[in-house]
Amino acid sequence: MHFISRVALLPFAVLGSLLADAQCDRWQQRVKYDMRVELDVHSHRFTGSSQLTYTNNSPDTLHEVFFHLYFNAFRPGSEMDVRSRTITDPDSRVGDRIVHLTKSEMGGSAVDHMTQKGKAVVLTPLGTVLRAVLADPLLPGRTTTLAYGFYGQVPVQIRRSGRDNAEGVAYTMTQWYPKLAEYDARGWHADPYVAREFFGVWGDFDVTLTLDSSFTVAATGVLQNPEQIGHGYPVGRKGLKPDKDAGDKLTWHFHAKNVHDFAWAADKDFVHTMEQVPDGPMLHFFRKNDPALKEAWEQFPAYMVKSFLFMNEHFGTYPWPQFSFVQGGDGGMEYPMLTMITGKRRLGSLVGVSVHESVHSWYYGLLASNEGRYAWMDEGFTEYAGAQVMKHLFNNDADPYAGAISGYKALVESGKYEPPSIHADHFRTNAAYSTAAYSFGELFVFQLGAVIGEKTLAKGMLRYFDACKFKHPEPIDFERVMEKQSGVELDWYFDEWINTTRKLDYAITEVLQVGEKLRITLANKGDQLMPVDLRITQRDGRTIQYHIPLSLMRGGKPAGSEANAFSTLATWQWTDPTYTFTMDGSLKDIAEITIDPLQRTADLDRENDRVELPEGAGGFVRP
Ligand SMILES: [Zn+2]
Repeated sequence: MHFISRVALLPFAVLGSLLADAQCDRWQQRVKYDMRVELDVHSHRFTGSSQLTYTNNSPDTLHEVFFHLYFNAFRPGSEMDVRSRTITDPDSRVGDRIVHLTKSEMGGSAVDHMTQKGKAVVLTPLGTVLRAVLADPLLPGRTTTLAYGFYGQVPVQIRRSGRDNAEGVAYTMTQWYPKLAEYDARGWHADPYVAREFFGVWGDFDVTLTLDSSFTVAATGVLQNPEQIGHGYPVGRKGLKPDKDAGDKLTWHFHAKNVHDFAWAADKDFVHTMEQVPDGPMLHFFRKNDPALKEAWEQFPAYMVKSFLFMNEHFGTYPWPQFSFVQGGDGGMEYPMLTMITGKRRLGSLVGVSVHESVHSWYYGLLASNEGRYAWMDEGFTEYAGAQVMKHLFNNDADPYAGAISGYKALVESGKYEPPSIHADHFRTNAAYSTAAYSFGELFVFQLGAVIGEKTLAKGMLRYFDACKFKHPEPIDFERVMEKQSGVELDWYFDEWINTTRKLDYAITEVLQVGEKLRITLANKGDQLMPVDLRITQRDGRTIQYHIPLSLMRGGKPAGSEANAFSTLATWQWTDPTYTFTMDGSLKDIAEITIDPLQRTADLDRENDRVELPEGAGGFVRP
């Protein structure tokens, strides 16, 4: 009987697995932080207590957990300090500033006592990381609660976080609390902080922040007690006024659901305004009360509303109820439901940085690939989508991706380019890291459009977002979504472009008249692979577009997958150094032949991509 019922269930199980889009089907750990924090604005020290509820959805029994203590990076001799003083091209914001910090200027972060069900957890601080050996092992599928106190000192602003930034914002509180490291199928990611990338556990944050009542606070999450607060927050129920009897301290209560970090900023001088995105989040804006900022900051919200509407339509729906643009930090930096940006900018720069940082909500905030391992999946994808937003906002004709290609080429030519698969912390130079993360990541996406078709890519980006949000996707997840969307095999594209520094260089080598036909020969002069788009421009201005798929693709982009119509030629067997085809036509009618006419590939030698045929030319043979 038992046996028969199990067999009867089988067809349903099989059917279910066929119907489900199984991509990004990864288990996720889960956290819930309840943090009560008090900041002393005179000593710049804070104390807190936390109840951290941790659910182990992994198949492994956990005997220990790790926390990040990022503020310990701002101490002489830290890994971040030494790295900055020994790398050949240090970030000018860091340089050798950490080694010169005095005791009162340094940062610090510590956990003073941790218990699990009343039993002591053994703590070992390891610089910017804390090892916590559990009192009881955490079994698969089980939840435990860790109770602990923590304290810290806010460093002077060096990088991303700190007090008194260059524009006078009092507190930029990012990477500020003991943050549980992520554990996934690759194990723990207790990376020491060297000022690069982040990775966090999904969960809910209930945070109260108590500080001097003259400060206005901006934070990840939604304010739970606006009627007590005021400070530009809607006071909620009609007639309720901010609490005048709050005394010299106010407690701000924030709640954020389904995020992987919590950041905040505070200043006595913040002006706080709001702007609603139709069918989307409420946007909050916090800037210093400085007349020089007023004009740009008053025009800027309308652009951000348009940006969110565009992203929702083309890249997936932003799910949280609000997003805040906060003057703070040292440039632009993304956090869940919030960004810190420097604010003394002309409108174009303010919009540019804010588009980039808010678009991170999709790739850092919602998809949230491990940025250490795959920085290009966050920065690069953000640049890709952000370039489209900027084109939409400013309606200019410039190629939005030209900068990514030129940035990539410049580094390749310098000899410093390294494989994008290197962990973000371990590139030899800051330039190699940022080129891999930003320029390569961006070109990897738009170049994929040349492989599978720009319309297929656009649909695939939405599908990737829906299949992988809240799942920390890896390259294989993006690859599988794009393979399913296009029907094209993409192993070669992901393997060769992500893991190697091989160079792309296709060329036109021969154009000859053979009887009634034109014979055209191409060559792969580099060691990297791509299918080839070819445009033949006739003397009367008409064009013919061809596409030559690679044999490895086991298919190709279908007609209609691009705005420009094209015909598909026979596949290029990938091992062949050259490719020859013939077409009806006469040399006298042909003005020009161009490989990659839309300049969507990172072909390193554009000179040999183009052949111009002067009138009366008897053909072309590349010497
Ligand atoms: Zn970014």
